[in-house]
Amino acid sequence: MNIILLGPPGAGKGTQSAGLVERHGMKQLSTGDMLRAAVKAETPVGLEAKAVMDRGELVSDEIVSSLIDENLAAMPADQGAIFDGYPRTAAQAGDLDRILAKNGRSLDHVIELDVDEDALVERICGRFSCANCGALYHDTANPPSKEGVCDTCGSTEFKRRPDDNEETVRKRMGVYRDETAPILPGYEARGIVTRVDGMAGIDEVADAIDAILT
Ligand code: AMP
Repeated sequence: MNIILLGPPGAGKGTQSAGLVERHGMKQLSTGDMLRAAVKAETPVGLEAKAVMDRGELVSDEIVSSLIDENLAAMPADQGAIFDGYPRTAAQAGDLDRILAKNGRSLDHVIELDVDEDALVERICGRFSCANCGALYHDTANPPSKEGVCDTCGSTEFKRRPDDNEETVRKRMGVYRDETAPILPGYEARGIVTRVDGMAGIDEVADAIDAILT
């Protein structure tokens, strides 16, 4: 099973991917996470990508498609892939078809998380994660059960993404509307798109996604 989770920043792609990994043993391929790891490690790709990411713009198709290519090739053939934050342009959608075919895979579902933009700004500006294990939290919607302590690993160190501020978030949403949303009709024509109400609670969205996968 190979699926794309599509939706504007903050729609819940990362949260839902983590659930799918846990429930179904799939692998999350998040170009945003790969790029942030490259920035942290100060690799040539990371050095090139950092300023672009901080501005909320898109990194080149070539860079992200080669990250996906490398990561997919390293996966066992029978493990399902979740594409999270990729593809984001028409060129990347074409690249993904070629990369999947090369690996003997095909796309089963494109799941679009349908969300309200203003609510998303609040959602994104409140999110943070555990600096040790990466568990995801939100100031109001999903705080750790004991304040300042990660539920998963007990760490007391947390971090916020530098691009999770209102100005950059609005910019990223505009990029989604202009560059990413236009790839949907191509997938719709293939009959593989399902819309899910991304404003529902985390568990409800997860149930809706599972219903599509079965
Ligand atoms: P994300 O974590 O998916 O919100 O991605 C964070 C940032 O990484 C984006 O705002 C872009 O600058 C960059 N990025 C992630 N995925 C892609 C992609 N598929 N194409 C271009 N840029 C990307």
